[in-house]
Amino acid sequence: MSNSYLHFAIAQDAKDELRKFRAEFFKTDENLIYLDGNSLGKMPLSTIDVLKNTLEKEWGENLIRSWNKSWYTKNRAIGAKIAGLIGAKPEEIIVADSTSINLYKLAFAALQYRQGRTAIVSDELNFSTDLYVLQGLIAHQFKNHQLNIVASADAMSIQLDDLASAITHHTALVQLSHVAFKSGFMYSIDEVNKLIHHAGALDLWDLSHSVGAVPLELNRWNVSLAIGCTYKYLNGGPGSPAFLYVRKDLHEDLINPVSGWFGAAKPFNFSLEYEAASDISKFLSGTPSILALNALEVSIDMHLNAGNQNIRAKSLLLSQFLLHLFHQKLRKLNFELGSPEVDENRGSHISLKHPEARRICEALIQPDIGNHVVIPDFRSPDNIRIGLTPLYTSFQDIYYAVEELELIVKEKLYEKIQLDSNQVVT
Ligand SMILES: *Cc1c(COP(=O)(O)O)cnc(C)c1O
Repeated sequence: MSNSYLHFAIAQDAKDELRKFRAEFFKTDENLIYLDGNSLGKMPLSTIDVLKNTLEKEWGENLIRSWNKSWYTKNRAIGAKIAGLIGAKPEEIIVADSTSINLYKLAFAALQYRQGRTAIVSDELNFSTDLYVLQGLIAHQFKNHQLNIVASADAMSIQLDDLASAITHHTALVQLSHVAFKSGFMYSIDEVNKLIHHAGALDLWDLSHSVGAVPLELNRWNVSLAIGCTYKYLNGGPGSPAFLYVRKDLHEDLINPVSGWFGAAKPFNFSLEYEAASDISKFLSGTPSILALNALEVSIDMHLNAGNQNIRAKSLLLSQFLLHLFHQKLRKLNFELGSPEVDENRGSHISLKHPEARRICEALIQPDIGNHVVIPDFRSPDNIRIGLTPLYTSFQDIYYAVEELELIVKEKLYEKIQLDSNQVVT
């Protein structure tokens, strides 16, 4: 009986137009089902060749001459490619530093620009680093400002009305994650920006959990500022550099608080006075990691090839299949849905809640429990997060992952797990 779902999965995989991309990633154990690409994307095979070339040719042979050949403009060149993924102009994006650092730079710039207003609005679904950076800005620099964190009524989503009543003419900045890291809740940037701009505030969107998974139209939605991570859906590799976006008309007025030489108008003049560049490169600070930039480019090209709309279409089909199996098989095993059901309100991961989530998650990963090694991740207190990454997740992956969840819970196999309190990363 349950095999009809397997047949469905096989048929879906057979007609999946993005199927060929799966073979472009490093091949892992046949029995391994990777559902954590929203936290660390898989490694594209050609990353190995690109890095080998960077090491042997660009660094080894060409040495410092490579700066003029291709390195010096890499931040901008890859930024321009990312612009194609997120509906922005090539000259509005630059790749640099980490998401946290870029958030610091742009939030600082926004608060400076909107002096006189002293409120910052965010929400309680936001990622910890975002809130910490805002708190730090208030503690050390903008001491009269206040952070207003909008609460979630259902621990899963934010009501637009609640957000609207938090935004006033005192609001300088609204900083939100487009897709919430735990529940996968997704804002309509278009709608929210209308509220923000009506109040005369600036918007700063964190796209870490949406870029590479859902289509983005930054210019069409009149986004002022944005940042995003590249080691999740964009498969740039652990700690790969992040990007930042500043709408063109703000380039002149916004300052970079970390005014290093790479953001100067003429870095190689080594003049004693800082003079900021006039374009997006003013938001650079110091020398970028070229190894990391070159590794990142591989997967950006893959995404451009695959096409945003195709990626979203497959992500929704995968999500709907998982939701269907949740209703048919997992609900009766005490699982609850920790993500919005409606497609428009959800990114590309789904959280399943269970009182034994932590041990179930460990049991999924253990090779000697069940038939597959399934790797999702655990987010406190009771979420098993399942990342659906259309370039390499198959429908059969979903089928077998759910089968494994059923087995582990029905047979109480999670009772074999002794939680390791020393394990830091979950
Ligand atoms: C992953 C993630 C980050 C990561 O920030 P780093 O500076 O790369 O550690 C930031 N914000 C959100 C919303 C994320 O999902």
